Amino acid sequence: MVKSEREGLAQEEARIYLEKLEEKLEYYKQNVINSSDAVIIQDFNGIVKAWNKGAERIYGFTEKEMLGKSILKVIAREYHAEAKKNINLIKQGKPTFKVKQIRKTKDNQKIFVNITYSPIYEKGEIVEIGTSEEDVSELKKSIEKLKGSEEKFRSIFEHSEIGVSIVGIDGKWLEVNPALCKMTGYSKKELLSKGYLQLTIPEDIEKTKNFSKRLINGKKDYGYLEKRYITKDKKIIWVYLSVTLIREAHAPKYFVVHTENITERKKVETELKMYKEHLEFLVKNRTLELEKEKSFSESVIENIPNMIFVKDAKELKFELFNRAGEKLLGQKRENLIGKSDYNFFPKKQADFFTNKDRHVLKSKKLLDIPEEPIKTPRGERLLHTKKIPILNKQGKPLSLLGISEDITERKEAEEKYKSLYESSADAIMTLEPPSWKFTSGNPATIKMFKIKNEKEFISKAPWEYSPKYQPDKQLSSEKAKKMIMRAMEEGSNLFEWTHKRFNGENFPATVLLSRIKRDGKTYLQATVRDITEQKKMEEKAKESDIMKTEFLSAISHELRTPITPIKSQIQRLLSTELDKKEQIDSLEIALRNTIRMDRLIQDLLEISRIKAGKFNIFKKKADLNKTINEAIIDLSGFIKEKNTSITFEAGKIPEINMDRDRILEVIINILDNSIKFGKGKISISTKKEGNSILIKIKDNGIGIIQNEKIFSPFYRGEKIDSQKYEGTGLGLSICRGIIETHNGKIWFDSKRGEGTTFFVKIPIK
Ligand code: ADP
Repeated sequence: MVKSEREGLAQEEARIYLEKLEEKLEYYKQNVINSSDAVIIQDFNGIVKAWNKGAERIYGFTEKEMLGKSILKVIAREYHAEAKKNINLIKQGKPTFKVKQIRKTKDNQKIFVNITYSPIYEKGEIVEIGTSEEDVSELKKSIEKLKGSEEKFRSIFEHSEIGVSIVGIDGKWLEVNPALCKMTGYSKKELLSKGYLQLTIPEDIEKTKNFSKRLINGKKDYGYLEKRYITKDKKIIWVYLSVTLIREAHAPKYFVVHTENITERKKVETELKMYKEHLEFLVKNRTLELEKEKSFSESVIENIPNMIFVKDAKELKFELFNRAGEKLLGQKRENLIGKSDYNFFPKKQADFFTNKDRHVLKSKKLLDIPEEPIKTPRGERLLHTKKIPILNKQGKPLSLLGISEDITERKEAEEKYKSLYESSADAIMTLEPPSWKFTSGNPATIKMFKIKNEKEFISKAPWEYSPKYQPDKQLSSEKAKKMIMRAMEEGSNLFEWTHKRFNGENFPATVLLSRIKRDGKTYLQATVRDITEQKKMEEKAKESDIMKTEFLSAISHELRTPITPIKSQIQRLLSTELDKKEQIDSLEIALRNTIRMDRLIQDLLEISRIKAGKFNIFKKKADLNKTINEAIIDLSGFIKEKNTSITFEAGKIPEINMDRDRILEVIINILDNSIKFGKGKISISTKKEGNSILIKIKDNGIGIIQNEKIFSPFYRGEKIDSQKYEGTGLGLSICRGIIETHNGKIWFDSKRGEGTTFFVKIPIK
């Protein structure tokens, strides 16, 4: 029985329990569904799973509008993070807890809500989150209203860090707390005598007025405002106002204002803003710079004198062409881009180019083609081309960059230089620092220095090509150093130098040292001109100059000599009473000197004719031996006077073509000298020699120092001789003129003190 009783009791208990449970469920159901509180179920992602009437009423969204949507829709943005955090807390097993959040309604009103988060279990596991939410906005306001009078509130009011004030609808402060006084720098008394607009900076007055107007006229009784106040010590501070409008029976009564000093925050914000602006400025600047750089490099490419082109790696079609390229190929780039070499060059040449391109792209290495001829509308040009593969990050060829320099002119100049170098009469050589040894020499160098070849030339030390001293007594090695340094400093240096040939012979030269650059190295190029001939000519010119002067002074002297006795004899005749004999003597002296002067003038005229090439001869066949005999007869008086014996060995010679009178003049002149400078013995001979006749006139006299000058006008030999013997020094000069006009030759052989032999050679025809 006990057992059945027990069983019965248990059954009863279970029934009551179930009944109560059902009752509870019903109660819950009614309460939850119709609750004035919002009851919402959401999953871990915040997706709304249940939305009751209370939720509809608080938030204004219907169940239909919210199911399946995110709960964040009704949560103020600044609480999103917290809402997500709360979901996680529940998920991780935190039991029921309460929070306060600011939420928003369908018509975007902010409301204060107290929320209870609770986990929802299924089979012992948390699966969803339930929240029960209560709108406390009205409550909050009324509590605060109430608090105004409460002692507790008073103490909060007094001790708050935040400025708290009550402001009338007219904008006058009715109550301020110490924090606000501290913030503004005014005493409570001062503030209570002012309105907030008096502290507001002018720029923010309009904004402030609008804000309070909106509160008074709008349906919302609270709001937030950021603005600036001027403190008593004239500092501008930023404040954040939370303002609640208090109404009584719907009529606005006063504002409760919380004032927070946010100057520091603003400062940070401004700094951030400035920093951001600065960053933006930098970015903008850099962008501009990059653009500039781009246009800079573009303009470099465009204006470089070398042809620059880019071909795509696949089809080798032109993608880019600069101006130099257009000029070289004589084509506008519009016609070039998108086309390949086959559009512009004969197939053979295009094949050649294309092969090279492919090779570059395949090898991925730069290819340097030192010389490559191409046909252009301007004719064939020679290019120095570099082909460079452009690879992507993976190392695959993207395109081919080509840089071509037109070296046609340079090459031509080089060729020209080369041929000049080879054929120049000047020796051209290079010297290399720092030893300044020769490193090259052209063919003229080899010839000039009389050396075997270039190899031998450069193997010798430079000082082997100069004598030890230069004519100015400087050591060649020292002076050479100076000359080299000057050329290096000034770019070039031209000077005279005495060089030495490899056979030991010295020769005068002009040397031009020029600084040149080749392959990045500096050399000196020396151009050496052998001026031996030039020096000789100069020497001659100098001599002829001296002779001209001597000639002039000689003429004056010679003309004066006969004039002096003529003048004195005439004076004598005029001034003195002379007898007949004296008169005749005087006149004879004058006549003799007049004849002499006449001869002299005749001779001078003759010489000037010879010199001017206006000397005429009249050739006729004549017997030379006969002419020589005539000369001996003509001079017989002088021969006798000088006690001279003459032998004449007349050779068997044909008649020759000559101006008989002139040749007679020559023979008389030579013979006259032989008698004059001789010592009593003269031998004459004639003989045929080839196509000429050779006359020899030999004496045993004083002899002549071997000197061609005796054929120059007025030259009268050594001073002692000319002082001792009479003469004009014109004779031999005229002789030479006459003989040379006959295409013959005159010369002599002599030994001082032993005698002289004159030779005259005249062609037969
Ligand atoms: P001139 O006899 O009037 O002085 P020339 O022209 O005939 O002039 O001769 C030039 C010079 O040459 C002479 O002054 C003399 O010094 C030299 N000379 C010419 N013939 C002889 C000779 N047979 N022996 C030595 N000296 C001579």
